Amino acid sequence: EERDPDQKEFLQAVQEVFESIEPVFAKHPEYEAAGVLQRFVEPERLVKFRVAWVDDNGDVQVNRGYRVQFNSAIGPYKGGLRFHPTVTESVIKFLGFEQILKNSLTGLPMGGGKGGADFDPKGRSDAEVMRFCQAFMTELQRHIGQFTDVPAGDINVGAREVGYLFGQYKRLRNEFTGVLTGKGLEFGGSLARTEATGYGLCYYTQEALRVLRNDSFEGKTVAVSGSGNVAIFAIEKATELGAKVVTCSDSNGYIYDPKGIDLDVVKDIKLGHRGRIKEYADRVAGSEYHEGCSGVWTVKCDIALPCATQNEIDGTSAQTLVDNGCTVVCEGANMPSTPDAIAVYQKNHILYGPAKASNAGGVAVSGLEMSQNSYRLSWTFEEVDNRLKDIMKNIVSESLDAAKEYGHEGDLMFGANIAGFVKVADAMVAQGIF
Ligand code: NDP
Repeated sequence: EERDPDQKEFLQAVQEVFESIEPVFAKHPEYEAAGVLQRFVEPERLVKFRVAWVDDNGDVQVNRGYRVQFNSAIGPYKGGLRFHPTVTESVIKFLGFEQILKNSLTGLPMGGGKGGADFDPKGRSDAEVMRFCQAFMTELQRHIGQFTDVPAGDINVGAREVGYLFGQYKRLRNEFTGVLTGKGLEFGGSLARTEATGYGLCYYTQEALRVLRNDSFEGKTVAVSGSGNVAIFAIEKATELGAKVVTCSDSNGYIYDPKGIDLDVVKDIKLGHRGRIKEYADRVAGSEYHEGCSGVWTVKCDIALPCATQNEIDGTSAQTLVDNGCTVVCEGANMPSTPDAIAVYQKNHILYGPAKASNAGGVAVSGLEMSQNSYRLSWTFEEVDNRLKDIMKNIVSESLDAAKEYGHEGDLMFGANIAGFVKVADAMVAQGIF
């Protein structure tokens, strides 16, 4: 806190983890002796760089790029790239910090990293996005590699951007390797990677419901926020599992459709022509559009799946969810709940799935993409999807085992923090102090 007093998001993420892992130190005095905690919160490396490019009018634009290589104790750095005007060092560090524990929970050998830029792709042409991606990779390439650091997508970095980034890496390095994940299927991408975070979120939620409540998605009303990659495939899988999803949103407002969201329309708007979600109400009779994205949490639901961005549910929204009968919140986005919101969940015995566990499906399948690239082969959709299901179920059981061991039976947040941390801490102790 003394070192980075202004890094609000980063401190928020660290605080939540610290509260859970305290009891671990009593059982493992070797962690303290090896300075694990102090080393754990300091990134191994953070690069910050200029990204200069020329827009369609011939004007020079300058953005700021970042890559945090946070922790490589259990594998090469791994984590997505985010292009959004709200990107700061604090945001990248919070995401990188969460990523260490998330990657550990998948059981795959991946360390924690994250990156991005304060570039806003809204209203930019395809050619501008390509030139930006090329300029960004021109610097990033010297810091990454298939055995060093393997970036992927995040907000506003999808198939198009990963394609341009990969093309530029290949051009500069003259090598074809699995240096990025989320690639197109023609050049080393994995089947089911696009769906993985949203599907994984639903597999996790379904399993937690089964184990903790002997319940399921069947017949439930679900509120989803966002309408990007994670939201779309969360809506798809929740619907397939028998739920009715009645909302989706973007940063301008939200849709309420009492009949259940028509996903073909959402996909056509968002994936078809990068449109705004408002258009849904013009196209689907009986649906409503409301300005303001936080209103989505006033809609009555049994299960809430926040899939847009950090701090999108505050204490007031959490209380509204509870008052309307919601008993389950599982996070598709990273850190969508503020500390106040989490306090409301805890007080009201909400089944709360924290992001680092519930949205780990994306990076898990990225890990599987790395394996396929190394083998130079590709698995079928079913093969990847089955592995994803197993990984998500395993995260639930590992979290619950850790929670039980440390006296917080049934607490998925506490359990995820501990289960993720212990593996990394053991590896850090074994590898000596540096
Ligand atoms: P996308 O860019 O595909 O979609 C993001 C969605 O969230 C859009 O609907 C966007 O609306 C909305 N959104 C973004 N920023 C804000 C904001 N400041 N306020 C309100 N709404 C906002 O990104 P993803 O679906 O990939 O990512 C969503 C979340 O999931 C992020 O927190 C990301 O870190 C997390 N995540 C993603 C993974 C992945 O595999 N893609 C893996 C694990 C976590 P608009 O169009 O108006 O900007």
